[in-house]
Amino acid sequence: MPYDYDPQNIFARILRGEIPNKTVLETAHTLAFHDIRPQAPVHVLVIPKGPYVTYDHFARDASDAEIVDFHRVVAQVCAMTGVQPGEGGAGFRGITNAGEAGVQEVPHFHMHILGGRPLGRMLA
Ligand code: C5P
Repeated sequence: MPYDYDPQNIFARILRGEIPNKTVLETAHTLAFHDIRPQAPVHVLVIPKGPYVTYDHFARDASDAEIVDFHRVVAQVCAMTGVQPGEGGAGFRGITNAGEAGVQEVPHFHMHILGGRPLGRMLA
């Protein structure tokens, strides 16, 4: 399936420094920043720097280095924000919305890390 990446999407503009963000962590391949409209006390978005539209696009086309780096940043963000359940945190939810049915607002792959309050049961 072809993916058509829009270089004018808001996260592409954040990555180019055209729009400010509250950075949590930045590496060679990945950026983590606070969501502008937090849905929980911890609400961080983790994005790859490469032009990937959705999680499946990223998982299919990104390099091994990008994929490993992304997931290591997710783990570091969990540790930095205190939500890591194995280290005394109360836990978190990682969400990635994809496409129309997934109600994805920004067409640059991102994972939401939510925590800091009881999140309830949610699978759809
Ligand atoms: O998964 P979805 O695409 O719906 O989520 C996009 C997220 O990006 C929203 O939670 C929104 O608050 C966030 N956002 C942001 N900074 C912007 C624009 C959107 O954190 N400048």
